[in-house]
Amino acid sequence: MQNEPLSIAHALEHAARFHGRVEIVTRQTENGSIHRYTYAEALRRTKQLANALQSIGVKSGDRVATMAWNTHRHLEAWYAIAGQGAICHTVNPRLFKQQIVYILNHAEDSVLLLDAAFVPQLEELWPQLTSLQQIIVMTDEEHQPQTTLPNVHCYEKLIADQSDEFTWPELDENTPSSLCYTSGTTGDPKGVLYTHRSNLLHSYAINSGEANGISGRDVVLMTVPMFHANSWGLAYSCPMAGAKLVLPGSQLDGNSVHSLIETEQVTFSAAVPTLWKMLFAHLDKQGGQLDSLRQVLIGGSAVPCSMIEKFEQRYNVHVVHAWGMTEANPTGTMCRLTNEVDSLSPAEKQKIRVKQGKPVFGVNLKIINDEGAELPHDGVTMGRLMIKGLWVMQRYYKAEFDAFDQDGWLDTGDIATIDPYGYMQITDRAKDLIKSGGEWISSVELENIATGHPEVILAAVIGIHDETWQERPLLIVQSATDSNVTGQQILDFMTGKVAKWWLPDHVEFVSEIPLTAAGKINKKALREWYSNRLA
Ligand code: ADP
Repeated sequence: MQNEPLSIAHALEHAARFHGRVEIVTRQTENGSIHRYTYAEALRRTKQLANALQSIGVKSGDRVATMAWNTHRHLEAWYAIAGQGAICHTVNPRLFKQQIVYILNHAEDSVLLLDAAFVPQLEELWPQLTSLQQIIVMTDEEHQPQTTLPNVHCYEKLIADQSDEFTWPELDENTPSSLCYTSGTTGDPKGVLYTHRSNLLHSYAINSGEANGISGRDVVLMTVPMFHANSWGLAYSCPMAGAKLVLPGSQLDGNSVHSLIETEQVTFSAAVPTLWKMLFAHLDKQGGQLDSLRQVLIGGSAVPCSMIEKFEQRYNVHVVHAWGMTEANPTGTMCRLTNEVDSLSPAEKQKIRVKQGKPVFGVNLKIINDEGAELPHDGVTMGRLMIKGLWVMQRYYKAEFDAFDQDGWLDTGDIATIDPYGYMQITDRAKDLIKSGGEWISSVELENIATGHPEVILAAVIGIHDETWQERPLLIVQSATDSNVTGQQILDFMTGKVAKWWLPDHVEFVSEIPLTAAGKINKKALREWYSNRLA
């Protein structure tokens, strides 16, 4: 057999050559207007950018950062940087300032490509940045902002005179292609360095029918930001499949997302539950359907049962629940019903639908106890979730030691069960698990049930100190703005749906539950808020 190395550039080359007229549609960050072009044009401009980057001194192995929303220019940057053998470092602009400074300095990025809107943010950070030498603002000359930053280029001007001929170097498939830092809820952010091999194997796997099942008939709205967890692999898997791509720019509110779904006839999308909540809030208020949408992938945090039901019963959209982490490129599991479980009762099937699912072939999972012994797949026993596989990280960027154990298993930091059918369910993050009277209570499950109450927008459960039980769950609720729902009414709604001793003793209401940069509930901030309240 031929032994051609796996290479990211080949994904875009393939799309341009065999799906050349398929569109990439962007809502532009400058003014919200729509930009359209094709995979063939995207490849041409990507090659111009590859030449431009070399003309300003970028070399193989250099880290080139991006700080940008999902746009056609950001996509070009991903391919131009990795394709030429440099490393595309996606920086999350919503992180705290000190985290952004840490990440840019730690990665020793030499060039940064950023959206015009982030220029003031960068100006503020500039005195603390130690490695950046050149800045490329991803816009045209008309929208190029005035700035005090040194060595600034305008993207469109920089690529305009460049040749659209560029020969991708033959890279070893284990060459690093991209770098993504986890948001680091504990300690400093940690970098995960992906390779051409890990990215392409991951993309093949997530395009399969057992996973996303994306094909050339799909129109994919890529809502997961390209600066978060490798945009769940879609920036590679969609060109590989020849799917039309829709890039929403910075506008991720319910109205903007819905209008793109309608006008572009989107068939597939992927996002965290909070984004879908915003879409539902918009649809509940304004009305509207999701006629073109056939499937959504939901992950990043647990999907409430009520969300699956609403998508499927009200809008006829199939939901696939998925679990992953930055350290795993990021996909670990996807939840689809197999023939074996299809004959179960509707209630049993619904219990499986909210699980995180089975591992996609290429990764392996096990659960272990504190002594490292493997635990049974009985759907009840909770243990630390361990992962290994073709696209699972070995060592954090620049770390001295490997992150996995001697047998190659990486501790995910999650607590999970695996049932006899092979479905994994996350019961908590190890650090969020509530230990009450020596027994574990799953905060995720309580949140899931509370969110099913029609007047609850978001629910979070944290463990609080208790003299008798060591810890007890506290439910914190953000209710609908016009709601008068009481804590007791929510607890009544939850009664009977979990063991009695799991029920929270108190419910607190907040006007807004804080979210992390990735749109997940920020439990660290909630714990601080609660302890300040007690003080
Ligand atoms: P971070 O949130 O730490 O920046 P990631 O985005 O990589 O980094 O998050 C990975 C973590 O998110 C997982 O370890 C798990 O705790 C949580 N997670 C991801 N998907 C799900 C899901 N479907 N259900 C519950 N938790 C999830």
